[in-house]
Amino acid sequence: MSLYDVTIIGGGPAGLTAGIYAARATLNTLLLEKGMPGGLAAGTEFIENYPGFAEGVGGPELMLQMDAQARRFGMKVQSDTAETIESGEDYFTINTDEGIIITKTIILATGAQPQKLDVPGEDKFHGRGVSYCATCDGAFFKDKEVAVIGGGDSAIEEALYLTKFASKVHILHRRGELRATKILQRRAIENDKIVLHWHSVVEKISGEATVNEVAIKDIRSGEIKSLAVNGIFVYVGTRPVSDLVAGLIKLDERGYIIADENMHTSRPGIFAAGDIRQKTLRQVVTAVADGAIAAVSAEKYIKSLPKR
Ligand code: NAP
Repeated sequence: MSLYDVTIIGGGPAGLTAGIYAARATLNTLLLEKGMPGGLAAGTEFIENYPGFAEGVGGPELMLQMDAQARRFGMKVQSDTAETIESGEDYFTINTDEGIIITKTIILATGAQPQKLDVPGEDKFHGRGVSYCATCDGAFFKDKEVAVIGGGDSAIEEALYLTKFASKVHILHRRGELRATKILQRRAIENDKIVLHWHSVVEKISGEATVNEVAIKDIRSGEIKSLAVNGIFVYVGTRPVSDLVAGLIKLDERGYIIADENMHTSRPGIFAAGDIRQKTLRQVVTAVADGAIAAVSAEKYIKSLPKR
């Protein structure tokens, strides 16, 4: 059993930045991460809008640097899953797969996970043509036709990335206008390999050993047509990973954590940072800002605790 000043749950940009700030303030800091540090940003091939990189930076590279930076200041990393949190007097107990952690403060940075489509064939063909990560799986679709579902920044950015491999990339979007930023929209429209299908939703994904067809419905006419594709990349938004704290702190109706501008949640000593928070802009640049503020708030909270 160990006692920490700060335990950060989740190792994406928000969690790693909280780690840099907390460890640099000489707080005894632990990061709990069940997979590889880096979060969703580590699965993004290229990040163009993170300040300081005039030519852009690879997502995995940026996240490796943040991880190394936090460790350099003394942040410890435990590859583990937090199962439950219990609130005690002036400290919290986190029960993990590996044991028990006692900590004065917690920074929740568990982020968000890809939202599923919930259509027939999606689960059956997951890993056999259905993917939620173009950076991880795009290269398997060299000279093949693929479909990307969604009209946001992720869908368009990843569709553009897939044109490096695929012979054709079909973007299926449920409305007649993309949600993505204008610069991405323009690049998609100007790309010869991209075909946009407006007002289109997926009805069914089918195939044999792997995907070979997607049935799509035009939501205006109700007409159903079939597209022959070998890959389906789903980018229809994300959902918060907040089950761990449901009932412990206030969440909004969609499950995002409600925190104030200093990252305080409804429970003193627990802070939230990054995509897990209810907020308007979910990007690396806002996640790192949240992480820094959460760490400083945790430090202030620890100073305010009665000396025992
Ligand atoms: P998003 O912005 O929420 O977009 C989700 C897209 O999926 C929307 O176009 C939505 O359609 C569509 N959609 C949702 N549910 C659907 C369903 N059941 N069937 C079909 N389509 C569905 O999500 P995101 O693109 O993952 O981006 C998440 C956040 O990360 C955003 O804040 C985004 O700006 C940010 N991000 C930024 C960058 C960047 O700046 N480079 C890159 C990636 C992500 P509607 O448009 O009709 O709602």
